[in-house]
Amino acid sequence: MELAYTPKQKAFRQEVRAWLAANLPREPLANYDTREGFEQHRAWEAKLFESRLSMVMWPTELGGRGCDLIEWLIFEEEYYGADGPMRINQNGQLLLGPTLMEFGTEAQKQRFLPRMAASTDMWAQGWSEPNAGSDMAAITSKATRDGDEYVLNGQKTWSTRAIFADWLFGLFRSDPTSSRHHGLSFLLVPLDAPGVTIRPIKALNGKDAFAEVFFDDVRVPVANRIGEDGQGWHVAMATAGFERGLLLRSPARFQITARKLVELYKANRDSADRDPSIREAVLDAWMGTEGYALSAYHTVGRLNRGAQIGAESSTNKVFWSELDLKMHETAMRILGARGELLGSAPQAHDGGWLEGFLFAQAGPIYAGTNEIQRNIIAERMLGLPK
Ligand SMILES: Cc1cc2nc3c(=O)[nH]c(=O)nc-3n(C[C@H](O)[C@H](O)[C@H](O)COP(=O)(O)OP(=O)(O)OC[C@H]3O[C@@H](n4cnc5c(N)ncnc54)[C@H](O)[C@@H]3O)c2cc1C
Repeated sequence: MELAYTPKQKAFRQEVRAWLAANLPREPLANYDTREGFEQHRAWEAKLFESRLSMVMWPTELGGRGCDLIEWLIFEEEYYGADGPMRINQNGQLLLGPTLMEFGTEAQKQRFLPRMAASTDMWAQGWSEPNAGSDMAAITSKATRDGDEYVLNGQKTWSTRAIFADWLFGLFRSDPTSSRHHGLSFLLVPLDAPGVTIRPIKALNGKDAFAEVFFDDVRVPVANRIGEDGQGWHVAMATAGFERGLLLRSPARFQITARKLVELYKANRDSADRDPSIREAVLDAWMGTEGYALSAYHTVGRLNRGAQIGAESSTNKVFWSELDLKMHETAMRILGARGELLGSAPQAHDGGWLEGFLFAQAGPIYAGTNEIQRNIIAERMLGLPK
């Protein structure tokens, strides 16, 4: 086993570090759940793309660098270590991107992928419906074929940043006689198309973080379908599992939170040490994030030798979402009543812990709830009965 970085990997780390030091915005960007902040983040992602640092793992002809997974981990460590702005086109870049690479036609790849990497097109995900969340096969939004077009009717919900996004990808029932996971098609929908209505939904932090999207006779060309008609479920599910299991939340994101938690603990040691369980929780957070990072390197080593991640992505998801929640709970305990003050209050702590604490509540829900992940672990990894 080789535990040292190669000269090429070290040089890549130095390049990314120097680029970020020279180019990171000097002032924090406005909140991405506002129009102003969304556009600031879009401009930042375009700048990353100009230096081919937006999607480092994508092939060079699509604007990436053709990096392997180890180099991606290095990029993430540098990006989070430098406190880079949150990436807001992840639904497109991490979910739709790999799907297009696997199932898209050449024309679709050329049309959508470079604009996605540059965040010229921002993407919203349209899976969930009011009666189809964990049970996604219950989707009822319809796509009725009319010549070279589909006519869409129905409703999607909880679509992150759909109020500001340019496009939505989603599953629609194209065979009216079908049920469950049969007869669905995977379609790309421009959100400025006639008949699309987008209504914001406020998140726990009061920001317009998601939206419900209504489709009333929305016309979409058949050329916007990924994969075959009626095969949408297969397309959505077959997207390389490891991308979901690993790429969505890299260990660096949590390592930086653990580092900040240790600093917070040290700065408040007098009060924090009155409760020894706080110290234990800080240590646990540090060990948990380091353990997750080592396990990610181990997984990447296996993937580089041709293995598949499979149901292990479910254990990852349960682990990082619960770890993130615990770390933010510990920070709130250290801060006490002050932690509950909104950022605008004069005595508020400015470390962003309250925002992070509120968002961490969502971790066990999005990307498939942790109960569903535990079902997958039980059935597919442990072989337990349904
Ligand atoms: C921050 C955030 C961002 C999101 N962004 C998007 C987005 O961009 N696009 C999108 O389409 N969706 C998005 N979602 C929606 C998310 O995918 C759903 O909330 C999730 O799939 C759960 O579906 P549901 O809310 O309908 O809950 P339900 O499926 O109704 O579940 C309710 C509860 O029952 C449990 N449960 C359900 N079925 C089972 C079972 N078989 N066994 C055990 N327990 C079960 C669940 O775990 C949950 O605790 C987002 C959600 C959040 C929180």
